[in-house]
Amino acid sequence: MTSILNADLHCHSVVSDGTLTPEALAARAKANGVALWALTDHDEIGGQARAAAAARAQGMHYLTGVEISVTFIGHTVHIVGLGFDAENPALQRGLSQTRGGRGQRAMDMSEGLAKAGIHGAYQGALKFAGNPELISRTHFARFLVESGVCKETNEVFRKYLTEGKPGFVEHRWATLRDAVTWISEAGGVAVIAHPARYKFTANEEFALFSEFKSHGGRGVEVVTGSHTAAEYLTYADTAREFGLAASRGSDFHSPDESHTELGTLPYLPGNLTPVWELLSERIQHSTDPSPEAQASSGF
Ligand code: AMP
Ligand code: MN
Ligand code: MN
Ligand code: MN
Repeated sequence: MTSILNADLHCHSVVSDGTLTPEALAARAKANGVALWALTDHDEIGGQARAAAAARAQGMHYLTGVEISVTFIGHTVHIVGLGFDAENPALQRGLSQTRGGRGQRAMDMSEGLAKAGIHGAYQGALKFAGNPELISRTHFARFLVESGVCKETNEVFRKYLTEGKPGFVEHRWATLRDAVTWISEAGGVAVIAHPARYKFTANEEFALFSEFKSHGGRGVEVVTGSHTAAEYLTYADTAREFGLAASRGSDFHSPDESHTELGTLPYLPGNLTPVWELLSERIQHSTDPSPEAQASSGF
């Protein structure tokens, strides 16, 4: 299978911290020429049936998706899962546990913000959460923009929601081993999300990739909205060094906030194994008989 494929295998809907419904995302992906799509909400697969149905209706091929929050040597790392069976009970239980601490965390964040003079943040953030089980820092950021404390969400993260800032709360997410195992045992492929975003030393990053592989992880995002063009090349080398397949995804959240539009990134660099090559059995094929859909799909 070709690496010249408009696959977008990372984005978020109202089921986590995106602002569009799965159906609106599917329409937007299609309009931007996406042929293979995955919705990857944080710690939640409640949008998968809608996304798969919407992909089918739009004539796109679909892979199930999720982005699991993990704590690795004291840092938060995101692991994307693709092509798993969404009915798998161990995966569902694991995700439900991972979501479990978000309510208390949000109340603690709100307390921290109150001490900095920002009141009512929990209720304010909750209003923005399409899924109350998935209240996230993004929803707090939207509330602080709405209430005029900051101009844009980036500024909120910088001033209030990152380590050492008033609304930041230490949190323990899933372990790397558990996240990779849940995905793999449900028939999917685990992928390290946006590796350039983590503030790891070279040794720590080596440990992340080695342990990820030893637990059965098989892919890494190379072309993502969070990487620069230079980082595409760095992580293409890392993928080859560790024998990992490469993934591509925008990490699109919202038309107003995201700087990378769905389906508009460069193709994967050559001589990498695209992650969809490992998942050919798991792709839910579009039944759209139109010649354009078939021709653009690459299958
Ligand atoms: P949480 O899972 O609650 O810790 O929220 C993490 C989410 O916050 C990420 O998935 C991003 O959508 C968002 N985020 C993190 N850092 C930033 C930033 N600097 N600017 C805007 N959004 C961010
Ligand atoms: Mn997010
Ligand atoms: Mn992420
Ligand atoms: Mn994401």
